[in-house]
Amino acid sequence: MTQRKTRTNLVHGGTRRSQYGELSEAIYMTQGFSYDSAEQAEARFIESGQDEYIYARYGNPTVRMFEERIALLEGAEDGFATASGMAAVNGALVSMLKAGDHVVAAKALFGSCLYILENILPRFGVEVDFVDGAELAQWEAALRPDTKAVFFESMANPTLELVDIEGVAKLAHAVGATVVVDNVFSTPVYSRAIEQGADVIVYSATKHIDGQGRALGGVVLGSQEFIRGTLEPYMKHTGGSMSPFTAWIMLKGLETIDLRVRAQTATATAIAEDLRDHEGLERVLYPGLDSNPQFPLTQRQLGAGGTMISLDLKGGKPAAFAFLNALNVVQISNNLGDAKSIATHPTTTTHQRLSDEQRAALGITDGLIRLSCGLEDVSDLIEDIRNALQAAQV
Ligand SMILES: *Cc1c(COP(=O)(O)O)cnc(C)c1O
Repeated sequence: MTQRKTRTNLVHGGTRRSQYGELSEAIYMTQGFSYDSAEQAEARFIESGQDEYIYARYGNPTVRMFEERIALLEGAEDGFATASGMAAVNGALVSMLKAGDHVVAAKALFGSCLYILENILPRFGVEVDFVDGAELAQWEAALRPDTKAVFFESMANPTLELVDIEGVAKLAHAVGATVVVDNVFSTPVYSRAIEQGADVIVYSATKHIDGQGRALGGVVLGSQEFIRGTLEPYMKHTGGSMSPFTAWIMLKGLETIDLRVRAQTATATAIAEDLRDHEGLERVLYPGLDSNPQFPLTQRQLGAGGTMISLDLKGGKPAAFAFLNALNVVQISNNLGDAKSIATHPTTTTHQRLSDEQRAALGITDGLIRLSCGLEDVSDLIEDIRNALQAAQV
């Protein structure tokens, strides 16, 4: 048979069926597994083969289905599912680093990622330098022969600025560093990160993979050697594994992710186009707008602008708050990738801990609103946003 296509893999990939032949994936809600004999137990602790399980912290059939399905989507050799996106980021980095190693990271990072790199890793003797992720020259200057890993979000939150995966990977590989990419905003639907040189990819499954705001989860993807040799021993002994129930939610999320993310992207594009010249806005930040300076990179790296837009309102925080408070369809929350459209004010929420200088350096103004486009009718969303923009201008 020819190789199956993505949509088919998203529905069937990784499926394991019990003797009952259940059509929908079973939730193996068990922490342990019983053995036919003492000899079998002994043998499994020496080496467990494919689909032989010991304890849910080490692996579980429902979790394995999710890992295989998402690995097929990403084009990765293997994956390890984690309890949250942060367990994935922490596991990917800590499992490979040791005291004395050097890491280069982009400075535009999700708050908890920044905490790991700025506060936790240095406590264990890992030296971390930060660069402006969009500037290849800064990566080149910061990389050293002892640089063990580079870490960045391929599309930064909330400015939606892209990092050139191929460009950074070339530089990092030249010094032998492992390229770890937090790919949440790019989504696994548009990602071709492995082809472009990423070695390890992490997702918060909480976002587009669930896509319906139900559960926390994450996944690390990479070579079989990295996932099974480096990451798995760390994860299974430190307790960051995904629960079988969460894995089932994420499996079901994967069945529809391609349809959802493409529909949400079409909506984001329509909203960005509609608002691009709006008088109440300083800027519309959307990588899929042809006026965006990174539009060529967006086309080359992802082929689409994704599901997120940031709107920079004239009038700073008062305008941003008036806008949020006037929204009816769009919800005020800080999740993203959800079926429900969501708006958030980064300065006072997700990026509140940063100093004014740090926010200014990242382009996070007081008028900035981050919008995650959902699955509602696009005309209802545009009407809601336009009404709220009008309310923000009084
Ligand atoms: C949400 C998010 C995370 C953390 O994921 P959790 O599932 O909340 O732990 C990490 N990186 C990015 C870019 C995110 O958006």
